[in-house]
Amino acid sequence: MENFEQLRTVKFYSGEVTPLEMHKVRVVQKLNLLPIEERKESIFGAGFNTFLLQNKDVYLDMLTDSGTNAMSDNQVAAMSVADDSYAGSASYTKLEKAISDVFNQKFFLPVHQGRAAEHIIAKSFCKPGTVVPMNYHFTTTKAHIEMMGSAVEEIYTDEALKTKSSFPFKGNMDINKLNRVIEKWGAENVAYIRFEAGTNLIGGQPFSMANLREVSAIAKTHGIMVLMDISLINENLYFIKVREEGYQNKPIKDILHEMLSYTDFSYFSGRKVSCTRGGGICTNNHDIYMKMRDWVPLYEGFLTYGGMSVREIEAMSVGLYETLDFNVISHSPTFIKYLVDSLDKRGIPVITPSGGLGCHLDAGQFLSHIPQTQYPAGALAAAMYICSGIRGMERGTISSVRDENGDDVLADVELLRLAFPRRVFTLSQIKYAEDRIQWLYDNRHLVGGLEWTEEPPVLRFFVGKLKPIGDWVEKLVAKFREDFGDSL
Ligand SMILES: *Cc1c(COP(=O)(O)O)cnc(C)c1O
Repeated sequence: MENFEQLRTVKFYSGEVTPLEMHKVRVVQKLNLLPIEERKESIFGAGFNTFLLQNKDVYLDMLTDSGTNAMSDNQVAAMSVADDSYAGSASYTKLEKAISDVFNQKFFLPVHQGRAAEHIIAKSFCKPGTVVPMNYHFTTTKAHIEMMGSAVEEIYTDEALKTKSSFPFKGNMDINKLNRVIEKWGAENVAYIRFEAGTNLIGGQPFSMANLREVSAIAKTHGIMVLMDISLINENLYFIKVREEGYQNKPIKDILHEMLSYTDFSYFSGRKVSCTRGGGICTNNHDIYMKMRDWVPLYEGFLTYGGMSVREIEAMSVGLYETLDFNVISHSPTFIKYLVDSLDKRGIPVITPSGGLGCHLDAGQFLSHIPQTQYPAGALAAAMYICSGIRGMERGTISSVRDENGDDVLADVELLRLAFPRRVFTLSQIKYAEDRIQWLYDNRHLVGGLEWTEEPPVLRFFVGKLKPIGDWVEKLVAKFREDFGDSL
């Protein structure tokens, strides 16, 4: 499997292997690290829900990689030459050229963000009685498909949801399951097969080119379209290059063009892939393009901006070319690998192998003394913030729902996700996270569960409020003071 040497060619004299930033920081944003007593107050104020923390009270914001990535100097420069016009903007012509050069796709529909592409695709191709098989769902994707009356069938492999694994391509589709789904529904009722690059909810895990090739061949025999969600394509590209036999010496561009040659159409969230905002749908098939085209002016904006500002469009073009730069796309995966491997070596429960989106702590194992009905992942997110000022995202039973009897539907896995926005954090900041996770692990017996104080009926994880069961927070803060003195 890959090592950090692939990020660049320098070697440390000591033999130590660490990732190295291949950029320098020229614009900075000041951060706050509040004393632990104030962090305690903030988390009480936020109802033990990291979504409700104020960013000014957060040291490292590892909630998400969406819209929080660093832009390059060239992207910022491009924004100042943007050509403002409603129709036929020169900035848009540049974007079309980037789509053609980088993705090798002829037709493009711009939209304001990834879920808007999902809306238009679902509206154009999904209807009751049809199904969309996919390696795994993403929240907004599934909602749009189901809203149009289509069903979603997830056909991930047995490795995908294992917390401990050395399988390099957890984002693969299970070919037998795919064949069974096609047989069950009939090929004519498969709206399209959806392949998600860098599978978000499995932890930024990639699929292999071999698996994609096989799925595409099956789709062709049945006359079924293949759609790829390329929001997280950068890291999937990186993993194919370093993990898959036969791709080590291939240029990124060739790998990307090969991937997209197996698709009929694709779409992306610019908040991830190009470190901007916006999004779009790409295809080389004129009929597919025409089926969707007229929805864009209705829902998004005219065909030469699709709800994006021209500044975003300029930055997006530059950002897309930068996905072809190995130093750019290797940054997140190598930094994530650094943290995941280090925690794994120390016996701290973390999802393996490392993926492209963030570090996922296995809260079910980490806090195995807390029952799922007292939300171990939520408790770990709160405890992490209290001991470090780092904000992660609960991905466990709080993010789930209640059934018709009012009981929690327990999540398959209880995770705390620490996302790595692209090229935002330095290695010393990651080492800080590593240190505080170790401290928290050594003191995990002090952490207790949570209970609701305000529980909204829908999407409760966004704005719901909880409180600690018992006085575990006071005990955790006291132990921190004992170990760290008056350090932050
Ligand atoms: C973020 C994301 C989306 C949705 O994109 P938005 O720009 O947030 O609307 C869709 N698919 C994947 C894989 C994503 O990561």
